[in-house]
Amino acid sequence: MNQLSLSRNTSDSLKTKGKPASAPSLDTVQQVDINGREFRRASQGKSERWTARTPTKRDIVARLERVSAEDASRLKQCCSAFRVLTCGQHTLRSYPTFRCKKPFCPDCAAERANRLSRQTEAKIAEAMQTNNGRLCLLTLTTKNAATLDGGLSKLKKSFANFKRKKVFKERIKGYFGAFEYTFNPKTNDFHVHLHLIVLRGKFWNQSDISDAWRDVTGDSFIVDIREIKNAHKGVKEVCKYPMKPADLMKMPDDKFLEVVKMKKGTRMFVSGGCFYNVKLDDADDAADGNVFTQFAELTEGDACPFCKQELFDVFVNRQQHIGLHELNAMPNVVKNNSS
Ligand SMILES: [Zn+2]
Ligand SMILES: [Zn+2]
Repeated sequence: MNQLSLSRNTSDSLKTKGKPASAPSLDTVQQVDINGREFRRASQGKSERWTARTPTKRDIVARLERVSAEDASRLKQCCSAFRVLTCGQHTLRSYPTFRCKKPFCPDCAAERANRLSRQTEAKIAEAMQTNNGRLCLLTLTTKNAATLDGGLSKLKKSFANFKRKKVFKERIKGYFGAFEYTFNPKTNDFHVHLHLIVLRGKFWNQSDISDAWRDVTGDSFIVDIREIKNAHKGVKEVCKYPMKPADLMKMPDDKFLEVVKMKKGTRMFVSGGCFYNVKLDDADDAADGNVFTQFAELTEGDACPFCKQELFDVFVNRQQHIGLHELNAMPNVVKNNSS
């Protein structure tokens, strides 16, 4: 393992170029074109908007320290250091040395959302090859709930009954969905809803869906269905974060703690019909934070596919990592073998 020392030159450029220190580093997914030897930075504008609108991880840690010191320290550790495979000029692979995998962690939520939408899109495309129908986005909502757990279980139970309905089976050939919740500080309760990507066979209009939904919920009838023109966008809509980190900051301590202490492994997805096998493959750890998955096989000592220099592993801190991804490469790294 080589130790990293960045030259003065590099740390200066990291400081100026890698400005948004609070940006979730892995939210900015990079792609690389091997043949064109061209690095492209994707969705940078989005990641800047994200920074402006959401609390920083530091804010969440500070808030968490008041209610659960243990979770606060894990969140602090998460993505604070990265292991990077580089030739000194090109970054082939990087992943955090520790991940908390908590849904309220901006880093882990972003990584999970990216991975989920990648996997989901591929699996839905596969299912669509043998099934006909219109891809639609269906949203089902329930009345606000005082507790997150209560709201979630009511919605889950309602959906379980909904999908058993004859009319659902007749119209929907496949579905994949994720639960999402928001918090309303005025009424001090949670709004839990379910976003689904469905493959609709026969047309099913909104008011009929609303009637069927009221039938199973007893009191809720607000639904929305719309055709998806762009499957990629539709998948993104369903696979985004289960909650907005900004909502966390609006919660009183008891609600905040409820979210933080939500049972590990609480099911947040549903799937069935021809989309039955669409689910998040959590065992796929190779993809966890691994920006350039096509380089998964490379290790220390191999030649860089771009410049043929020898690759080595380095540890960088969060600040350096953000800078490194902003620059799309790691210039002026001095290999230091003295350790
Ligand atoms: Zn995390
Ligand atoms: Zn190289």
